[in-house]
Amino acid sequence: MQFQRLKLSGFKSFVDASEFRIEPGLTGIVGPNGCGKSNLLEALRWVMGATSAKAMRGAGMEDVIFAGSDKRPARNWAEVTLTIDNSARLAPQPFTDQPVLDIARRIDRGQGSTYKVNGKEVRARDVQLLFADASTGANSPALVRQGQISELIAAKPQNRRRVLEEAGGVSGLHTRRHEAELR
Ligand code: ATP
Ligand code: MG
Repeated sequence: MQFQRLKLSGFKSFVDASEFRIEPGLTGIVGPNGCGKSNLLEALRWVMGATSAKAMRGAGMEDVIFAGSDKRPARNWAEVTLTIDNSARLAPQPFTDQPVLDIARRIDRGQGSTYKVNGKEVRARDVQLLFADASTGANSPALVRQGQISELIAAKPQNRRRVLEEAGGVSGLHTRRHEAELR
């Protein structure tokens, strides 16, 4: 699955609708301090179903909504859309047959998050599993946060194993087994 485009509106510092093309070979984002590089990576994690506000550097999930500035009032919602090329049909069911996936997450103040795939409402879990199977996702070791390397070095073996399982693409299986056991 090839990421193609990331669209943001009202997400952190990206108050106006912004669109970024993600082309093969992209290896980094450069820019001055505070220009929004980390916010972009967080938007990517967020649309893939991140549940930890702390990983978004906030106290609560609503902190991802543009909080206002000297010149602009705060927003009441934020939305991020990730477009994925699924022409190789690698996405799991029920998304396998759709050649392009527009995955959208929106948060409204006081109402929490909603997710849509190609305009149709889905559960957070559906989006999380979609990426878990692709060995990517909000907790994927493919996305390295600032400070994460030193955390990994200091981590307990159990936690380090989780990173290896993500990298090996088996964490989606673990999640489904856990859900099956709960039923
Ligand atoms: P560095 O090079 O220092 O790592 P960066 O490019 O990664 O910088 P970010 O951390 O992505 O920068 O962006 C920080 C900016 O985003 C700050 O100016 C901060 O005020 C702004 N910001 C974060 N959350 C919000 C929010 N909810 N509303 C408005 N602005 C926000
Ligand atoms: Mg940064």
